[in-house]
Amino acid sequence: MAHLEINRLTKSFHGNRVLDRIDIALEKGTFLSLLGPSGCGKTTTMRMVAGFESQDEGTISIGGQSIDSFPPYKRNIGMVFQSYALFPHMTVAQNVAYGLEQQRMSRGDIRKEVANALEMVQLTGYEQRKPKQLSGGQQQRVALARALVTKPSLLLLDESLSALDKNLRSAMQIELRMIQKEIGITTIFVTHDQEEAMTLSDRIAVMRAGRIEQIGSPHEIYEQPANTFVAGFVGQSNFLKGTLEEAGEGRARYVLDNGNSLFVPIPASGPAYAQGTGTILSIRPEKIRLTRDVSAQTGIKGTIKFITYVGSTFTYLVEALGQELKVQRQNDSNDHSFRQGEDVWLAWNAEHQTLLTE
Ligand code: ATP
Repeated sequence: MAHLEINRLTKSFHGNRVLDRIDIALEKGTFLSLLGPSGCGKTTTMRMVAGFESQDEGTISIGGQSIDSFPPYKRNIGMVFQSYALFPHMTVAQNVAYGLEQQRMSRGDIRKEVANALEMVQLTGYEQRKPKQLSGGQQQRVALARALVTKPSLLLLDESLSALDKNLRSAMQIELRMIQKEIGITTIFVTHDQEEAMTLSDRIAVMRAGRIEQIGSPHEIYEQPANTFVAGFVGQSNFLKGTLEEAGEGRARYVLDNGNSLFVPIPASGPAYAQGTGTILSIRPEKIRLTRDVSAQTGIKGTIKFITYVGSTFTYLVEALGQELKVQRQNDSNDHSFRQGEDVWLAWNAEHQTLLTE
């Protein structure tokens, strides 16, 4: 049985449905990110799990027990929010001790638990500081220690790293993930940053307008996106709208809506490619190879329209098949001698393309 189970969670505000039958099941110790654009319902989902908001329909259970009728303080959930919400007049030790005092733990035990929690977040020695005497990253760690000190069965993190600058943020991502793995706590993390979700998660739930569009491992989400929204939100992709015709031995003719056509390789395994189906062919920019070698021609001819360089990669905007395709190559790939205006051939492996619905 899953450790956390959310079934058909539904919520409307003033007649406007903001969550529509959300289903999530997590094994113990799983790190899940809720990923999606602003307003898709991530925070509302979290607030319902925490008990700050009640659902119209659906159930939430932890360890097989429904928590729907429990007030927030009885749910045994640790939380860290973007603003940390540390008590400014209390010391670090007092902030971390707060939840234990509410539980009426003995002073000796509190001291021990606070010391353990601060050691876990590498803040031993900072006990007597006030929050304003700490850096943003340190405040973040105090908030984490405070959330974990009561040994909750679930940890909720809402955009909790977004106030940190880029370098500190990526260092905290690694630290957070290491702590989470070490104590094995089931975690839900809210973010609208796809890279952050990819870095941290065992599983990602991609949300749009109150629904989960896809839930899976970062690898599944990236390599087998369920639709164009997921493919476009997690990473980038080129979309070629068209119809599959004349499916035959290992390849099919794909006629684009703009009249152009190409032969696409069909992988030996994977979804059935029914002839005559309207679909969208999705191909990631980094999966497209470029060559000027005519003998290697694949039938897709293009012209390089624009080149951008960001050190580690080159991005080529290539006009091909009546539209612009984005192609991304590593700086070490020997492709970087292409010039603007040059004619090239494009190719990709069958297993790297996906046929999607909108
Ligand atoms: P963001 O990334 O911007 O925080 P989000 O994905 O967390 O967005 P939510 O905060 O869950 O989205 O909001 C989902 C929708 O519900 C939005 O349209 C929001 O305006 C609406 N909403 C949230 N809380 C309330 C409320 N208390 N009353 C009315 N509408 C609300």
